Amino acid sequence: MTTERRYNVWAGNPKGYPEVRSDCIEEVASSWGFHGFVQCSRKRGYGPDGLYCRQHAKKIEKRANQG
Ligand SMILES: [Zn+2]
Repeated sequence: MTTERRYNVWAGNPKGYPEVRSDCIEEVASSWGFHGFVQCSRKRGYGPDGLYCRQHAKKIEKRANQG
């Protein structure tokens, strides 16, 4: 079974954008619009399963430590 991540799914774009498999999976607020989130555009390779960029890996780590 493949779970596909989608980004920026909203009423005007119900399918959103597919995951870029080489990039960090974290969602970040889009800078170009008022709706939704987009996939982080940094290269992955850090954090759990190497799915995050360096910056978000740190964030995830903090989140985990806070319980
Ligand atoms: Zn990231």
